[in-house]
Amino acid sequence: MTAFRTLYSAAPEGTWAAPGRVNLIGEHTDYNDGLVLPVALPHTTRLQARRREDGLLRLHSTRGGEGITTLDLDGLTPGGTKGWAAYPAAAVWALRNAGHVVAGADLLIDSDVPEGAGLSSSAALECAVVTAYNDLYHLGLDGVRLARLAQHAENAYVGVPCGIMDQTASMSCREGHALLLDTRDLTTRQVPLDLRGAGLRLLVIDTRVKHDLADGAYAKLRAGCERAAELLGLPALRDLTAAALPGALQRLPEELRPLVRHVVTEDDRVRHATALLDAGEPAGLGPVLTAGHASLRDDYRVSCPETDLAAATAEDAGALGARMTGGGFGGSVIALVRADRADPVTAAVTAAFAAAGHAPPRVFAATPADGARRIA
Ligand code: ADP
Ligand code: MG
Repeated sequence: MTAFRTLYSAAPEGTWAAPGRVNLIGEHTDYNDGLVLPVALPHTTRLQARRREDGLLRLHSTRGGEGITTLDLDGLTPGGTKGWAAYPAAAVWALRNAGHVVAGADLLIDSDVPEGAGLSSSAALECAVVTAYNDLYHLGLDGVRLARLAQHAENAYVGVPCGIMDQTASMSCREGHALLLDTRDLTTRQVPLDLRGAGLRLLVIDTRVKHDLADGAYAKLRAGCERAAELLGLPALRDLTAAALPGALQRLPEELRPLVRHVVTEDDRVRHATALLDAGEPAGLGPVLTAGHASLRDDYRVSCPETDLAAATAEDAGALGARMTGGGFGGSVIALVRADRADPVTAAVTAAFAAAGHAPPRVFAATPADGARRIA
C-alpha cells in the first residue's frame, strides 16, 4: 500500500476501518419498514486521514488507479462526481449538507471488501469516511446518525436508492453477533451468534456475476410493494401480519401477490431466525435460509441461474441451508455448514460452476465482526 506520507507529504492523524456485511435473512424488507439480520464481515475498508484547512478533499484509493483526485468541497453537487470518488465525496457532502461544520481532508483508502459482490463495499467506504470525519472534527454523532448520513450520501449524491441496512450494519455490528435492525424505527439489538462455538461455518460464495437487470428491477419491485401497501390501506407491508396474509392476497391484483407473500413471510423468517439465535440454536438457521431462497427465487424472482446453482449445490453437498444474499441478479450466496463440510461444499460449488461454464466463484468463511471503528 502506498504510504500516506509519500502521497501527501505529512503523517495521517489516524486510521479508521469499516466492514462489509452479509445479510443472514431479511431481503427486500428494508424498504417495506421491515426487519433485517445482517452480520459484519472481517473484511474492511481502511482509511488513513488528516484534516486540511483549505476546503480541499484529496483522495487516493489503492483500487482507484494512480495519483490523487482533488475535489473542492464548495463545488460538490449531487451527481457531479465521476467514478469511485463519488462515494467519499458523497459522505463529506452529506455531513456538510446536514449542517455539520467540517473542512477538507487528505484520505488514503485501502480495502479487502470484494467490490460489487453484494457485500457492501460502497457502505464500507462511506462509513469509513463519516466515522473518520466524526472523530477528526469532533462531531459527537452516534452510529445511527452516521449510518443515516452515509445512506443519504449514497441515495442523494451517488444516486443509488439503497435502504438503511448496509450502512447500519457497517456502523453498528459487533463481533460474535448478528444485528437485528427494525428499519421502521431504526432500533437495533445485538443477537449472539457464536458460529465457531457451535461447530458451524458461514460460507460466503461470491458468484462474481451481476446481471444488468438489477437497477430497473429494483425500482419496479419497490414500486410494486408500495402499491400493494396502498391498496391494502397500510402504511407499509410491514404492517401486514402472516395471519392476515391469505385474506389480503385475495384483495390484490394477481401480479402483486407473490411480492407481498415474500415480504410478509420474510419478516417472519427474520423473527424466527432471531428466536433460534436467542435460544442458542444457530444450526436451526439452515432451513430458514433455504426457505428464504425459495421465496426470493419463486415469489420475488430476483435470483438468477448462478445464485440458484450455488445454493442448490451447497445443499446437495451437505450445507444446512443456503440462500442468495443482497438485492439479487447475481452477487453472493451464503451457506451455513458444519465445520467439516466447509471444504466439500466449497469444492462442490466450484466444480458445479466449472461444469456449467461459469467463472470460478470466490468462497470464504465469514465470522461476525465489529462495525466501524478507529484502529490507530
Ligand atoms: P457493493 O456495495 O455491493 O460492493 P456497489 O456497486 O454498491 O457494490 O459499490 C461498489 C463501488 O464502490 C465500486 O464500483 C467503487 O466505485 C466503490 N468502492 C468501493 N470500495 C472502494 C475502494 N476501496 N476504493 C475505491 N472505490 C471503492
Ligand atoms: Mg453497495
